[in-house]
Amino acid sequence: MSNPSLLILPGDGIGPEVMAEVRKIIDWFGAKRDLQFDVSEDLVGGAAYDKHGTPLHDDTMAKAQEVDAVLLGAVGGPKYDNLDFSVKPERGLLRLRKEMDLYANLRPAQCFDALADFSSLKKDVVAGLDIMIVRELTSGIYFGEPRGIFEEGNERVGINTQRYTESEIDRVARSAFELAMRRGKKVCSMEKANVMESGILWREVVTEVGKDYPEVELSHMYADAGAMQLCRWPKQFDVIVTDNLFGDLLSDAAAMLTGSLGMLPSASLGAPMENGRPKALYEPVHGSAPDIAGQGKANPIACILSFAMALRYSFDQGAEADRLEQAVETVLAEGKRTADLLGDEGATPVSTAEMGDAIVAA
Ligand code: ATP
Ligand code: MG
Repeated sequence: MSNPSLLILPGDGIGPEVMAEVRKIIDWFGAKRDLQFDVSEDLVGGAAYDKHGTPLHDDTMAKAQEVDAVLLGAVGGPKYDNLDFSVKPERGLLRLRKEMDLYANLRPAQCFDALADFSSLKKDVVAGLDIMIVRELTSGIYFGEPRGIFEEGNERVGINTQRYTESEIDRVARSAFELAMRRGKKVCSMEKANVMESGILWREVVTEVGKDYPEVELSHMYADAGAMQLCRWPKQFDVIVTDNLFGDLLSDAAAMLTGSLGMLPSASLGAPMENGRPKALYEPVHGSAPDIAGQGKANPIACILSFAMALRYSFDQGAEADRLEQAVETVLAEGKRTADLLGDEGATPVSTAEMGDAIVAA
């Protein structure tokens, strides 16, 4: 059997810096766990624009369609701010998501014990938190027609349309139930069926999909109540599945339960491939952070945890993913912190490379 394949797209700003630390971890898995990957690396975003005049070369796009998983760093930066919209670095990422048809966006909110004091919430509310928000990513109100700003009588009207087909709801619901089967076997679906027809259909279809997963406990919540519960007692949830708009808000809120942007991984999944696993793109939630790029200050953990998600969801290596996450926990418990994880007390931060090395050692 051939090795699992991984396409690495470091991108711009701190992207290459944090990806260098992931490369150390990939090498460690090869050497110490006999877990080999066919790794290829290519350009995306501003780096691709500089070389090819486009933020994503067709050859890179084709490669992304073939591999088992794509791992991306970050794209963009001030250097590219004045480029034409069609070649902006962000367009490279959008093209990947669109052509790979990645409809399920996974945003875990996981609180490492060592950072529980760092959250904006009380320690007992977040310590040990481990939930997953699945946001529908390719449809809903950001894409529905009609949309636009129109003249109506003597004033203008701005219109967006929330629109979901049964099949769009069905497929993202399946992603959520599949995840729940590998986790705590609970799904909470959030919509506003009390005031939106799309919400009524959402609830119906999710309930129907749930019948295929009798082991998973399904509950429904109005999204506004869900937002409240997420802040009040987030540990009641395992997997939350919701639409594009509500997911946008809820996943950002959930992210802040856990601390720094430098800690947050994500995955975007599409339809199952021949091997039964979904098309997948993994990336840290943070951007290219031009303010700290090139200074060795970036926290590599978000990107490293994105690779842990790839181990779990694309490479069927859940135990190795646990091992990697445990190493992160250990290093944090030792008190090692990049600058973003320190308050103003003046403790000495470790560099990007030191953090990577410490995780490899752990
Ligand atoms: P984008 O538009 O690509 O989302 P952004 O400007 O919204 O980018 P980031 O690039 O993520 O956001 O940066 C936001 C802030 O968080 C910056 O001050 C940045 O330095 C900080 N930051 C982001 N990622 C990290 C990281 N991995 N380690 C340390 N600090 C980070
Ligand atoms: Mg941003």
